[in-house]
Amino acid sequence: MKKITILGATGTIGINTLDVIKLYKNNFEVTALTANKNIDRLEKLCLEWLPKYAVMADADAAEQLEQRLKNYPIIVLSGTEGLSKVASLEEVNMVMAGIVGGAGLIPTLAAAQAGKRVLLANKEALVMSGQLFMDAIYQNNAELLPIDSEHNAIFQCLPGSEQAGIQKNGVSKILLTASGGPFRTFSIEQLQNVTPEQACNHPNWNMGQKISVDSATMMNKGLEVIEACWLFNSQPQDIEVVLHPQSIIHSLVEYVDGSLLAQLGNPDMRTPIAYALGWPDRIKSGVKRLNLIEIARLDFEVMDFKRFPCLQLAYDAMQIGGTSTVILNAANEIAVQAFLQKKLKFTEIAKVIETTLSHLTSKNADSLDIILEEDAKARDFSSNFILEIG
Ligand code: NAD
Ligand code: MG
Repeated sequence: MKKITILGATGTIGINTLDVIKLYKNNFEVTALTANKNIDRLEKLCLEWLPKYAVMADADAAEQLEQRLKNYPIIVLSGTEGLSKVASLEEVNMVMAGIVGGAGLIPTLAAAQAGKRVLLANKEALVMSGQLFMDAIYQNNAELLPIDSEHNAIFQCLPGSEQAGIQKNGVSKILLTASGGPFRTFSIEQLQNVTPEQACNHPNWNMGQKISVDSATMMNKGLEVIEACWLFNSQPQDIEVVLHPQSIIHSLVEYVDGSLLAQLGNPDMRTPIAYALGWPDRIKSGVKRLNLIEIARLDFEVMDFKRFPCLQLAYDAMQIGGTSTVILNAANEIAVQAFLQKKLKFTEIAKVIETTLSHLTSKNADSLDIILEEDAKARDFSSNFILEIG
């Protein structure tokens, strides 16, 4: 019996994880479920799964949930402390890191430090803490399995000794595929007036709001380039982004002999989730089989960095290193939130990030304190800048 904590259980990743676990109720025990402040949704999940722990990041929400669950043997906790506690429980084997944004950093790091199998969906945590996070994984014999579909695909196509670095494995390049999001064919002029509703309407994937906007600006691909650098011990120049509108090939690895290995499948997060839950074994996911005849063709296009400047900003931040990626991530989170609240235009998201990066200096990101401090500074700066230009 494998015991699992699901951080961000009420989100798209959390719900997909529970969907896969439903197929294996005799093999998995859900020990803890967490959410931010959606009491109704977490209560419903608790009644269905009867976890030992339920955590709400918001303290008031936790109090209300405790009241509602008072007739059940479920321990209700709150805040970052509660999240970190359930991510590092002695009895837990694996932790799904499915919180969105920097809010997931501390609990995800706690899971790594406690030597768990970390199923990493929360890419922002790795973008922020890079080396610190990878050190925590290796030093504590934790296992890191990527959930992001692209990284899961790359993981499946690599020979399996990422710590050595990709060159030592005969890899010449990693090809990260990008669907192009809802605005792939939009001109710069058309991008000026797009709405949050349009941005959240992804052609191939059904995801939370923040990652949907990131997919529309291509910052999602930028965060994924950074994520791939850390996960696969590689450099930004080793990673090439290729537009592939159908989202059937989830990414590829090119070897020095000219071989290209790819992982294909229908765009459904339950495939990478099942892969990571079962690894090294393969388990069923409930995902519809890919029918190649129905698909008939696969298209590839060159990435346009002019219309999607966020991708270049991410490459540059990774090249500079240190806390640059912390600043990039923080400014992006603030800008995306402002866009969703209709306080910022879509095309101004990149401007906010670029300005924040140019005003704050990069430092060595060698402690959690520095990372959190620089994160707070970047959030302050970008919030003020948005007020100024608004
Ligand atoms: P979502 O918005 O659907 O869900 C987010 C979850 O995080 C919810 O359970 C929410 O309660 C919780 N949460 C939000 N703010 C929090 C806070 N301050 N403290 C604690 N918990 C908080 O998001 P999602 O689409 O499931 O994405 C989750 C993560 O997975 C993101 O980092 C995203 O980039 C990554 N990811 C998602 C997909 C996808 O298909 N949805 C694919 C690849 C990677
Ligand atoms: Mg992805």
